[in-house]
Amino acid sequence: MPRYEFRCRACGSTFEVSRPMSASGDPATCPDGHDDTVKLLSTVAMTGGGSAPRPAAGGGGGCCGGGCCS
Ligand SMILES: [Zn+2]
Repeated sequence: MPRYEFRCRACGSTFEVSRPMSASGDPATCPDGHDDTVKLLSTVAMTGGGSAPRPAAGGGGGCCGGGCCS
């Protein structure tokens, strides 16, 4: 499911919302409860975004594709 980034114009914070593409144009509510928000550029499938699990963390052998196991 794509993620969309919003910014709250009431408190200035940014937040992400995961929602179907069919609902991409719907208004989002700030985590603090404000509804004066604007949608920013889509952050769909960004890697290295900080919150994604690291492939090597589970020891599942996912690191051998990048040359780190030579
Ligand atoms: Zn807010």
